[in-house]
Amino acid sequence: MSQTAARNLGPATALTCRECGESYDLGPHYACELCFGPLEVSYDHTGVTREQIESGPRNIWRYRGLLPVPTNVTDTPNTEPGFTRLVRADNLAESLGLRSLWVKDDSGNPTHSFKDRVVAVALAAARELGFKVLACPSTGNLANAVAAAAARAGIRSAVFVPSDLERQKIVTTAVYGGTFVTVDGNYDDVNRLASEIAGEQDDWAFVNVNVRPYYAEGSKTIGYEIAEQLGWRLPEQIVIPIASGSQLTKIDKAFQEFIKLGLVEDRPYKIFGAQATGCSPVSAAFKAGHDVVQPVKPDTIAKSLAIGNPADGPYVLDAVRRTGGAIEDVSDEEIVDSIGLLARTEGIFGETAGGVTLGALRKLLASGVLDPEAETVFINSGDGLKTLDAVAPVAVPSANIAPTLEAFRKAGLA
Ligand SMILES: *Cc1c(COP(=O)(O)O)cnc(C)c1O
Ligand SMILES: [Zn+2]
Repeated sequence: MSQTAARNLGPATALTCRECGESYDLGPHYACELCFGPLEVSYDHTGVTREQIESGPRNIWRYRGLLPVPTNVTDTPNTEPGFTRLVRADNLAESLGLRSLWVKDDSGNPTHSFKDRVVAVALAAARELGFKVLACPSTGNLANAVAAAAARAGIRSAVFVPSDLERQKIVTTAVYGGTFVTVDGNYDDVNRLASEIAGEQDDWAFVNVNVRPYYAEGSKTIGYEIAEQLGWRLPEQIVIPIASGSQLTKIDKAFQEFIKLGLVEDRPYKIFGAQATGCSPVSAAFKAGHDVVQPVKPDTIAKSLAIGNPADGPYVLDAVRRTGGAIEDVSDEEIVDSIGLLARTEGIFGETAGGVTLGALRKLLASGVLDPEAETVFINSGDGLKTLDAVAPVAVPSANIAPTLEAFRKAGLA
């Protein structure tokens, strides 16, 4: 790979260290050479207007003037995720005692989770940077998204997951072809292995490792969409699931960019984070008032969020504290209960991650931390079909009867 070729990554101008501010060219870098801090994309995207965005395609590329992707990104095959529905959840709001509630339903993406967003951006950047293989360590949804995007782009994929992954996510990754490896270890083991492989395989883009700065920017599109779909304004409260913490920090970045560009009114918003108690290192740090996040060994049904050593943990704490929000965690029982509540009230079948997020929202409301009068958005980041086993024991038919009217009457269902 050439380190010096001029790169067309749209409005992106450089990579900047989040810790010390050192600047790097737009190459395949992800850690600062001076302090090992994570690198983040910097931009010159003055002049982006509502009209420009509104005239774009109904997918994340309508925001390409705010993303590190080539100007002609729509000319190359990609999965075109995004512009998922923002659902007004009046039934759920009423049952919770909230005045105004919305669900950003990211199960509507091509492989049924928000990960298609980050992968689409990583793929576009990786191609421009000269990588030949799209790879990742994954807790499941990223594996789906990488395998599908690589198939559509006509390039090789190489995906690594913990071997105890949900069967649905094994099948929905393997079906796209590509190299697919299950690893006897937890996600943090798989992630470490991926970093080691990335060190040897020069032309493999591990989307969430060596091209992470570009990948992470894809999460901003959820924030842009929420603001645009609310009629170009920011919600007062937003509840976001935390795995590595990237999504949460990038939604905050998206809101800040929209304010800076004058696309929305500058008004305060509060960011709330959600974790499963069985993997809640960021929630624990928040509650203890710590700035550092102590790694844990995950044990929860919310496998898509089961990252014991979250890379963006400290930045999540910063964003939540700066905006006056909070972080809460919920048990496996509370996750299952909230998946059921969302399904029964709004007809939306969420992934375990959605159950975590709604569960945290309910807990924050009950403890008076969330304001019931303020306009609130929460994210359902994946499709319940991906985590069927979590709810299978409680989601059962009302009865099983013989095909006769008599049997129906006897069952007492009328
Ligand atoms: C990956 C994932 C998240 C959050 O990911 P971050 O690493 O925090 O950006 C949330 N929900 C689902 C379903 C996911 O797969
Ligand atoms: Zn640095």
